[in-house]
Amino acid sequence: MGKVTGFMEFARNAAPYRDATERLLDFKEIYTDHDNERLSTQGARCMDCGVPFCQSEEGCPIHNLIPEWNDLVYRDEWREALDRLHKTNNFPEFTGRVCPAPCEGACVLGITDPAVTIKNIEMAIIDRGFAEGWVVPQPPAKRTGKTVGVVGSGPAGLSAAAQLNKAGHKVTVYERADRIGGLLMYGIPNMKLAKNEVVERRVQLLRDEGVEFVVNKAIGDGTEGTTSIHELRDDHDAVLLATGATVPRDLPIPGREFKGVHFAMEFLTGNTKSLLDSNHEDGAYISAKDKHVIVIGGGDTGTDCIGTSLRHGCASLVNFELFPQPPAERAANNPWPTWPRIFRVDYGHEEAASVQGEDPRVYSISSLNFIGDENGNVTGVRTIDVEMRDGKFENIEGSEREWKADLVLLAMGFLGPEHDLSDPLNLEYDERSNYAAEYGRYQTSVENVFAAGDCRRGQSLVVRAINEGREAAREIDRHLMGTTELP
Ligand SMILES: Cc1cc2nc3c(=O)[nH]c(=O)nc-3n(C[C@H](O)[C@H](O)[C@H](O)COP(=O)(O)OP(=O)(O)OC[C@H]3O[C@@H](n4cnc5c(N)ncnc54)[C@H](O)[C@@H]3O)c2cc1C
Ligand code: SF4
Repeated sequence: MGKVTGFMEFARNAAPYRDATERLLDFKEIYTDHDNERLSTQGARCMDCGVPFCQSEEGCPIHNLIPEWNDLVYRDEWREALDRLHKTNNFPEFTGRVCPAPCEGACVLGITDPAVTIKNIEMAIIDRGFAEGWVVPQPPAKRTGKTVGVVGSGPAGLSAAAQLNKAGHKVTVYERADRIGGLLMYGIPNMKLAKNEVVERRVQLLRDEGVEFVVNKAIGDGTEGTTSIHELRDDHDAVLLATGATVPRDLPIPGREFKGVHFAMEFLTGNTKSLLDSNHEDGAYISAKDKHVIVIGGGDTGTDCIGTSLRHGCASLVNFELFPQPPAERAANNPWPTWPRIFRVDYGHEEAASVQGEDPRVYSISSLNFIGDENGNVTGVRTIDVEMRDGKFENIEGSEREWKADLVLLAMGFLGPEHDLSDPLNLEYDERSNYAAEYGRYQTSVENVFAAGDCRRGQSLVVRAINEGREAAREIDRHLMGTTELP
């Protein structure tokens, strides 16, 4: 374990982000350089629990060997720590940056004290690994002669491709966007996860290991610029669908058609693409500059809209949340080691407060209609306050308000996967319109076709997509070879 008395001697000391006022001036990552002394001290706080809840089902979905690498970092054995980390996680540089760290919510130390800074340690190990040149392509020694087609290049598709390639299969990943990465590329913004330096670096490693990537390739029914899913099935011994949950939840209230009301993904995707293509010089993105912005919906998507709008130089920013403000501490019905549903200040909220002097979130509020001018441009939103009565939201009479807005971003989550490529297969869906496939087996109702990630489970997290991609690879390997050694 770390230091036997470490948890009594040292307090939690998480790595700070760059100063909010400074980082708002660019789209570079928000993180500061790793401080080895801090990390070693934080590793020393790990108690090496007999039952490490951090790596259990309640904690890390990919069961990272957390106490082992906490100890190795405390003892300055970084190379061994990296080997332990890669045993369970293909992409720790992604999770170390964007994971909400359910492991920390389940850390046993969290019962009485703030948890070990697990996520900081994970990111530091992999960043050190790259800096030292320890992360190198490891192509498989033997090829099986089997081929697998993966549709979608998000974390589920990429982790499946990495594992299937390791098992010796020839893997081709088909992506309809012009860059590989799914929401790692066009979703999570650059300041949270750098595209060229971090995402593309890993994609290049996979290429060097033998994975083939095909971009600008939409798979569908074979019409309107798509490649037929039937053709893809004929070309491969197995197909994995990893297409994500890409259908956004709309807000069909009066005025929805006004110009200036957009889905969050139109805003975020355009911003990152323009940033990468031309450093925003092509102007091919929705700009929030000098606009009064209202973001409807919280979560990671809402936060990313806030951070992006502020970097554009918006005039003001408000974020509506339907739910009430969460409590500062765990509620009685939210005990350890479950994920703590508490009030958090994410990077975007901190940045908004640094510009506007207060947190941008307004809770318990529902939008009634959009207001527009004679040219069809949105000029505001009319709202009403709500409260929860008998498990249902009820409007509070007389609490209507009007808010000024020139740009409204809808960040209210996603309904499930698109069905363009699954309908031609007559694939079965679950009750929430996801591709039906049992967790742990990933086989869909169609022979040789598997499904993993958000298209199977609904909108979730990067670490859960990695978990599903890895496990689906194991099941595909078993299906192709009759047996498998993949974890
Ligand atoms: C804005 C935003 C921010 C987020 N931030 C975080 C965060 O900070 N931390 C976290 O853990 N999670 C976050 N998430 C959630 C996380 O990104 C997803 O859970 C995860 O990316 C899902 O991975 P996936 O591989 O299943 O699908 P995706 O990442 O959605 O990838 C699916 C890919 O399939 C492609 N595709 C779809 N249909 C086709 C087709 N017919 N043909 C070819 N290609 C196709 C899509 O273009 C896409 O590239 C965020 C989500 C959003 C929207
Ligand atoms: S992947 Fe997420 S849950 Fe797992 S150790 Fe890292 S931060 Fe924790």
